[in-house]
Amino acid sequence: MVRSLSMDLSRRQFFQASATALATTAFGFDLTHAAARAKELKIARTTQITSVCPYCAVGCGVVIHTLGGAAKNVQPTVVHIEGDTASPVNQGTLCSKGISLKQYVVNDRRLTEPLYRAPGATDWQQISWDDAIERMARRIKDSRDEGFLHEDDRGRTINRLDNVALIGGCTDTNEINYLLGKFRFGLGIAAYENQARL
Ligand code: SF4
Repeated sequence: MVRSLSMDLSRRQFFQASATALATTAFGFDLTHAAARAKELKIARTTQITSVCPYCAVGCGVVIHTLGGAAKNVQPTVVHIEGDTASPVNQGTLCSKGISLKQYVVNDRRLTEPLYRAPGATDWQQISWDDAIERMARRIKDSRDEGFLHEDDRGRTINRLDNVALIGGCTDTNEINYLLGKFRFGLGIAAYENQARL
């Protein structure tokens, strides 16, 4: 009986059926309508975008529900994040870290602006994105000018940059990794790693 149930019901349907049964029986009266109404209110009028869970290299797909995302005079607020049933990776499921993703997004401790700590300094200072990108570009260029190797010690052409390394994150898509590949080959960077391999 249990076996046939698990074959007929999807995981989501099973939890929906369990929640409905609990609402109906635990308090002695039928809460089904109230529970359905509460669920409807939570994501009513939200806009949805799909994204990827940032926590690990599995790369589960998520749907982010945002309230106020389509209005110009309202600060958009993420109200719900759930597994994306259209994702071939997780098919709507999320692990315990992924299911808590909203706390990661809606969090007053989350960094949203770049911070810079000058050499020898102990304090971080907030800088603009333009400033951060300019600083990174400057350092990459200086490092390349300083460390680019045209030949190895036997005179063979190598055109390699050994003093800069590149690492990709777990949410990088194939397209981002393709661009990162172009970027690193263009600079001659040999040391490249990506969390998707770990
Ligand atoms: S939901 Fe869990 S398994 Fe999936 S990417 Fe996030 S942390 Fe990894």
